[in-house]
Amino acid sequence: MQEHQGKNRPIAYASRTLNKAENNYAVTEIEALAVVWALKKFKYIIYGYPVEILTDHKPLLHLFKGKDLSGRMARWLLTVQDYMPTFTYIKGKANVAADALSRNCALTCAVSTETPTFDTLTHTDIFKAQRDDPMWSKVISYLETGNDLDLPHVPSLSHYVLQDDILYKATTFTGKYEPSRLIHQLVIPQTLVPSVLKLIHDTSHASHPGKEKTLSQARLKYFWLTMRRDINNHIDLCHTCARTKGNIHPHVPILSYPIPSSPWDVLAIDLLKLPLTERICLSVLIIFHVFQFLFQFQTKQHKQLQKQF
Ligand SMILES: [Zn+2]
Repeated sequence: MQEHQGKNRPIAYASRTLNKAENNYAVTEIEALAVVWALKKFKYIIYGYPVEILTDHKPLLHLFKGKDLSGRMARWLLTVQDYMPTFTYIKGKANVAADALSRNCALTCAVSTETPTFDTLTHTDIFKAQRDDPMWSKVISYLETGNDLDLPHVPSLSHYVLQDDILYKATTFTGKYEPSRLIHQLVIPQTLVPSVLKLIHDTSHASHPGKEKTLSQARLKYFWLTMRRDINNHIDLCHTCARTKGNIHPHVPILSYPIPSSPWDVLAIDLLKLPLTERICLSVLIIFHVFQFLFQFQTKQHKQLQKQF
């Protein structure tokens, strides 16, 4: 957050999941890890500026003042000291911004009875769309009446169930770090696929995850037959992803120039920035002629060769 015209405005969002080893950390270590990770991630924005960290975990207020830290905490302390942040305690209930970011609305609000918004699908929307869908309406009819006349071929038909008049597919979910469990995926009719794609990828809660992450998160909650293909196509056409991800800085091959025959034939220019204080930075424009550089380099090499032989 950065103060602008008297109000705190977010300038960037970030989050990540814990890896297998980090899952075993104590709670305070996980909170400290979040601080260190965030400082490193936003280094290019915050370095050299006063940094205030708002936390609802009180032990953090004094943790990095500790003198007898050891192991990874001592290593983290060195990183934190680079930024000299101040820690401010806020109550857990007041920490709504962090809570909003750490809960995936796409997964928690998939079926909502509230007024429809961009972020949510209502029970009524899904009920109507499933019954208007040429294929799923026949599956629903089969489940309700047992009549399999005109029933199209649907793989794993026995996995489909009706709950509260809504069609779900029961499937076994196998997580990377958790035991397998039975989940019920909401069956998405074709007309709702574009809305769900936006919900699982485009919203601020989803924050444009990559193809595999979007698919794996979507599979926790939703099912439709062409999920992978539709998600891949959607992300391929996503303007935000195209602007901010992928090969933003394409690899530029090293250029070769003809060796200059005399001084000042070819000039090289570079800009060096040196932070002097928290807010003042010394910029040095360096200009040198390539001939001199090559001459010194060759002389140095020549002297080194002389030493060796
Ligand atoms: Zn995107």
